[in-house]
Amino acid sequence: MIAMGQGLKNRGYAREDVQERRQAAEEFSSTKLEVTSSYTIDPESARSNIENMIGCIQVPVGYVGPVKVCGEHAEGEFLIPMATTEGALLASVNRGCSLINKSGGANVRVIGDNMTRSPVFRVDDIRHGLDVIDWVGDNIDAIREAAESTTRRGKLLGIEAFPNGRNLYLRFSYSTADAMGMNMCTIATEAAARKIEEATGAVLVSVSGNMCTDKKPAMINMLSGRGKTVLADCLVPSAEVKSRMGAEVDSVVETNYRKNLVGSSMAGSLGQNAHVANMLAAMFIATGQDPAQVVEGSMTSTLCENVDGDLYISVRIPALEVGSVGGGTKLATQSEMLDMMGCRGEGKALKLAEVMAVAVLAGELSTLGAQAAGHLGKAHAELGR
Ligand code: NAP
Repeated sequence: MIAMGQGLKNRGYAREDVQERRQAAEEFSSTKLEVTSSYTIDPESARSNIENMIGCIQVPVGYVGPVKVCGEHAEGEFLIPMATTEGALLASVNRGCSLINKSGGANVRVIGDNMTRSPVFRVDDIRHGLDVIDWVGDNIDAIREAAESTTRRGKLLGIEAFPNGRNLYLRFSYSTADAMGMNMCTIATEAAARKIEEATGAVLVSVSGNMCTDKKPAMINMLSGRGKTVLADCLVPSAEVKSRMGAEVDSVVETNYRKNLVGSSMAGSLGQNAHVANMLAAMFIATGQDPAQVVEGSMTSTLCENVDGDLYISVRIPALEVGSVGGGTKLATQSEMLDMMGCRGEGKALKLAEVMAVAVLAGELSTLGAQAAGHLGKAHAELGR
């Protein structure tokens, strides 16, 4: 029996190890963790995903679609898995998907693709900081070699410098192929930062100095992008807006203006949208992405215009941090969900980003329509309670 507080000493991932740990937790908390003990994935496959494993949590998963995606990497009709406990979410996104289909599909493009890590160094003063920046510029090839020695797929794209007093932030930017890339970039950056430290006397305080910025809402990501920066749009015929959402084009446009633009601006919100985090969280959980990075995606801007009487709607997702390999994508159930979209493995990360962006567009469209028609509370009362 593993004594409580000693769980980390048993690093085993055999089912018996998991069971032993769970029994210790049951004894400590005087509970029975019967349902948590019933799971199908192989704990061994979660070795790089969790410590102190005692079982699995189940989250209901469903699909929206099929929805027509007109992208560069994703082309055709897709069923999109979403895992959530929020009633009414899938029904709403599904309605958005059918409106997108009535519009002939959604256009979607990935316009940026890089992952960042920004170590912070302590320097002696501003002159020393500027000397370090010069050294980095003069020795970029050696820095690249150090960073890329830790990874086969990761490629250093560039380094931006942000000096401030005795602090120097170097924002490393990488191409990470099909991985979301956060582990990859952190390991590569640490190797490069050690080289800079040795050569310049700058002291590496943290490999992550928060100018990256990971898992926090930040203007730097909103402007410069992090992970995939994705645009999606469609033009919904006014008759469909009326018949399927019970709303007028102008009332949807006005709702978007007063809510997403003015309201968000007054609140100081980073991101101007209705509920982008909802779609992202549900897709991230279903497909094994890191759910904490929904924060970055939530800084999306949603725009609506009346174009010749029809409803133009678009989303700009500045930082969609997803991968088709690595992280939780390899777990058996999450792999199946990626397979459902043909988005698992090598060469599929950009396709995944495009499909996800269209689901985001669908969710925004439907919710704005519901609010414009005054139906939001009713839908939640009927489906979510
Ligand atoms: P990872 O699972 O740590 O690494 C992905 C691995 O896949 C790499 O080692 C890469 O090898 C390999 N790979 C094989 N085929 C590949 C392909 N086609 N494209 C790209 N890589 C390929 O995943 P990660 O994306 O770097 O990191 C994601 C994990 O980081 C998540 O679990 C997330 O929760 C966690 N995370 C970590 C931090 C942190 O600070 N470390 C922060 C946030 C999140 P090569 O490198 O040799 O190419």
